[in-house]
Amino acid sequence: MSKIVQEVIAANDKYVASFTKGSLPLPPDRKFAIVTCMDARIDPAKALGLKEGDAHVIRNAGGRAKEALRSVIISQQLLGTTEVIVIHHTDCGMLTFTDNQLHGILKDKFNTDVSVDFLPFSDLESSVKEDVDLIKNSGVVDKSVNATGWVYEVETGKIRSVV
Ligand SMILES: [Zn+2]
Repeated sequence: MSKIVQEVIAANDKYVASFTKGSLPLPPDRKFAIVTCMDARIDPAKALGLKEGDAHVIRNAGGRAKEALRSVIISQQLLGTTEVIVIHHTDCGMLTFTDNQLHGILKDKFNTDVSVDFLPFSDLESSVKEDVDLIKNSGVVDKSVNATGWVYEVETGKIRSVV
């Protein structure tokens, strides 16, 4: 067993010892979803005041709506959320490469072409706007759904409004 797995098991044993959240309902109590990056420096629960059962937190590299849309639809249509908050962040890894570069790495390493759009971006505010637009204009999100876009500053912990 790896050191990481051992550490995770030990931490979980501690967590379970004082666990009291075993009877929460499945649908999020505060009826909203957050789409954000997987970046290890972001703790949405701490940064945005979430407790267990409050909201869906959908994460992927960059917090891209195109990849998150599947989960957003499930969140809204099956679990009753009515608001989406998209949060990208400063110093995001997605600002540091292009699709061609990553496809080149995979080609060199594995001698294969994968048909994946890695969805990197070169402008933070534009990517937030693009993703809020994508959700609003997806054709499968109700017009009444409130969708807003934000940038989280990894330097300060602050979120600022984009759209
Ligand atoms: Zn990121």
